[in-house]
Amino acid sequence: NEQKPTIFTIFGGTGDLAARKLIPALYNLFLDGYMPKEFTIVGLGRTEYNDESYKEVLLDGLNKYSRSGVADPAKWGEFSSNIIYLQSDASKEKTYKDLEQIIADRDEQWAEAATVIHYLSVAPQFFPVISEYISKIKMAGGKEKCRIVIEKPFGRDLETAKELNELLQSLFDESQIYRIDHYLGKETVQNMMAFRFANALFEPIWNRNFIEHVQISVTEDIGIEDRGGYYDGSGALRDMLQNHILQVLCLVAMEPPVSFNADEVRNRRVDVLKAIRRFGPEEVKHNAVRGQYAGGWVGGKEVNGYREEKGVDPNSNTETFCAFKFFIDNWRWQNVPFYVRTGKRMHQKSSVISIQFKDVPHPIFPSHASENWQQNRLIISIQPEMSIRLQVQAKRPGLDMILNPVDMVFDYDGTYPKESPEAYETLLLDAMEGDQTLFMRGDQVEAAWELLMPVIDNWEGRKSLNFPNYPADSWGPEIAEALIAKDGFHWFTMP
Ligand code: NAD
Repeated sequence: NEQKPTIFTIFGGTGDLAARKLIPALYNLFLDGYMPKEFTIVGLGRTEYNDESYKEVLLDGLNKYSRSGVADPAKWGEFSSNIIYLQSDASKEKTYKDLEQIIADRDEQWAEAATVIHYLSVAPQFFPVISEYISKIKMAGGKEKCRIVIEKPFGRDLETAKELNELLQSLFDESQIYRIDHYLGKETVQNMMAFRFANALFEPIWNRNFIEHVQISVTEDIGIEDRGGYYDGSGALRDMLQNHILQVLCLVAMEPPVSFNADEVRNRRVDVLKAIRRFGPEEVKHNAVRGQYAGGWVGGKEVNGYREEKGVDPNSNTETFCAFKFFIDNWRWQNVPFYVRTGKRMHQKSSVISIQFKDVPHPIFPSHASENWQQNRLIISIQPEMSIRLQVQAKRPGLDMILNPVDMVFDYDGTYPKESPEAYETLLLDAMEGDQTLFMRGDQVEAAWELLMPVIDNWEGRKSLNFPNYPADSWGPEIAEALIAKDGFHWFTMP
């Protein structure tokens, strides 16, 4: 293909994310013919490896985590001949001198200045020092040839996000900065755009006149595993809601962009965040709830409560669950509640959007015909099932007129025999091609933090909590059910 020669530097090249997601994504892109003819991957880390032992570690990871594994050793050999390891300390100038030399060598060898993508797969305290040094590396091709990818978390509140934005924007153009929210790379999430704006059918009814309420639910069945040290300083609001869930909400609620241009799309996403009704103390009390899991039994195995997990303060008030009711104050969504929830150690692993339409204006069927009555619903399942279901009422076959809800289903597995790419494949390819549509712009991240700051401040000011308040393998605390039940609805769960 015609892609430019590319150099990937992965800071944190020996870390979990590199082994589980980044290298498998690049390898799959290679197998599918999306990597440029000339590329180099530079893994950086403190561990002592040489190129060969580093590649062995990556190969192990690929076989464990990649959707395809390494079926063809020759292909791996070809791919991995482009990988080098640089044992290095991210806070030492020498690291960057070495990198500069590698880049200069490649540029000479390829007789063309490569696009250089620096991937910061390290803890956030390293973001500033790495980006400062990177901005000083001499790039033969100038600014547009150098990109920097920032992993989450992007700040831990509005102030720290602003600080990081200010720093990055003083060193780079916004067009060089790729803030990852890997949810935006998921097939079903991207499909929201296609579904809404490539069909004449849905957009006319996508508003307050037809939609009664919207739910976005991201539940995990696992606990915090071995991430206690990180998670206890973060919690569900910061780890899932501020980024992934709000981004999905933006795609559901955004106005149609004028074109599929990155900034047009991102402008419309920011508009949604700005229109969400702010939380005063009353709204925090009534429209935001939090929870923390207790121990219990999951699949015949006893599991720890959150406060007993390794790395967690035994009196921790960190939330492992949160649920919100939002309103979006614009014409399209006036008075349509958006309920969102996320939690760990829940009954089911599932990310799903449910859009419930208003009821028919007048019932004509007798009550015995309508016992299973269900208002029309559009269910977009992001994971583990990837599908879109439209729930409609239909007559059950038989001599009586009995109504029954049925699903019209588009499921990915049935429709497309080839597996969908992983989110990181999509996003890394976009970064190579310079497409920022699925990345978060600086103002977007800040708008999301700004919205949530009153809740964060309020929650952090109220410490004597009745935690834990939900058992493992449940659907979360009772107050979360109450949040939605008081409006006459229930949380939707996949069958
Ligand atoms: P990790 O702890 O497994 O790896 C950290 C990496 O940083 C290692 O390669 C280590 O060698 C390197 N490192 C640490 N100190 C260094 C120093 N002084 N100089 C050079 N290198 C140094 O972490 P991870 O799970 O790979 O996560 C990396 C980043 O990605 C974090 O920001 C994390 O929040 C984010 N992230 C991870 C995941 C995931 O699934 N693991 C998912 C989303 C986001």
